[in-house]
Amino acid sequence: METALKLVQTPSQPPPSLEGYRVLARKYRPTKLSQIIGQDFLVDTLRRGIEGGRLGHAFILTGIRGTGKTTTARIIARSLNCEKGPTPEPCGTCSSCTAIGLDRSMDVIEIDAASRTSVDDIREIIEASRYKAVSAHYKIYIIDEVHMLSKSAFNALLKTLEEPPAHVKFIFATTEIHKVPATILSRCVRFDLKRIESSTLTTYFKTLCDQESVDSEPEALALIAKAAEGSVRDGLSLLDQAMTYGTSRITAEQVRQMLGFSDQGSLLELFQIIMEGNILIAFEKLRTFYKEGADPQRMLEDLLDLAHWLQCLKISPNLAQDITLPTEKRQKGLELATSLSIPTLTRVWQMLLKGLEEVRRSPSPQKALEVVMIRLTHMAPLPSLNELLEGLPESIPVKKKF
Ligand SMILES: [Zn+2]
Repeated sequence: METALKLVQTPSQPPPSLEGYRVLARKYRPTKLSQIIGQDFLVDTLRRGIEGGRLGHAFILTGIRGTGKTTTARIIARSLNCEKGPTPEPCGTCSSCTAIGLDRSMDVIEIDAASRTSVDDIREIIEASRYKAVSAHYKIYIIDEVHMLSKSAFNALLKTLEEPPAHVKFIFATTEIHKVPATILSRCVRFDLKRIESSTLTTYFKTLCDQESVDSEPEALALIAKAAEGSVRDGLSLLDQAMTYGTSRITAEQVRQMLGFSDQGSLLELFQIIMEGNILIAFEKLRTFYKEGADPQRMLEDLLDLAHWLQCLKISPNLAQDITLPTEKRQKGLELATSLSIPTLTRVWQMLLKGLEEVRRSPSPQKALEVVMIRLTHMAPLPSLNELLEGLPESIPVKKKF
């Protein structure tokens, strides 16, 4: 039934058009605490603080880019200044909520410390903070990238943080908390925004696809979540790209092409050829890679990643269940990992690492890569010292095995 309905609905959907298209990050930006994903501890603490009226006067939000620092800062501002609040679930419709949403509130002042680092900028803020909020409960200063402030600016700010007027709240955001002076940190309530788990992101992207009536393969969304490395913003912009690809269904194949994972199969093949010690075929393979525009340094980095993954796979074969990886890679990887010993894989890893340095330093990276390949094809199939010692007859005394 459901499939039939979908088939009827799809053709009537408007064709994807960029006109009037709002990027997902803007369209689905959370406006209340309950909409924040992957930051349960922060949400719980803030909710209890706001409900109990026990929020401090200064907060500092820290975390990698794209985890929602500025978004959270704006939600705190809304929660505090909503006409029906302070409440963790701001109404979104009162004049204060609307003004904050449109970035027009007189009482919520957003400053980018990257462009306003001087002591005069901070003095201006301090001077203005003496006057009460125009129409809302609090006068709220959101200072983004606060670590960029100059030393004298921090000192000026410190005085206000020590004895803040009751109607003022400060919300700082930073990606580099270690650059914020301890004197400032000790006067703020600190919240660490975590990288968002891949599985949480995948579920979130599925909800968005459903809301946008876009069909998607679970593997495709898992791939995007993995590439986002814990950042919602990065993930959403990748999802945007995938959605504007032009088709009504986001497939894993498409996402792999978009992210440049398409040559993983050939890379595994090259690895296997090296391990078999066949330099002629390895060179042939290299030439194909060059023709496709591969960069020698990038290739070695990819081979290093592969050597690392194979070692992990050897230790824990369960990794082959990871659905974010192409089925072919998982099958072939498992076969390779089974056939190779840990000492061999470690040796290959060391040689690749050394090779990477040489390629980086070499005036001709392509030649350097070829020399690395020759060395690898000669060394890789040889038994390790330990394997050699194990093969020795008992009569020969062996003092120590490595
Ligand atoms: Zn409101």
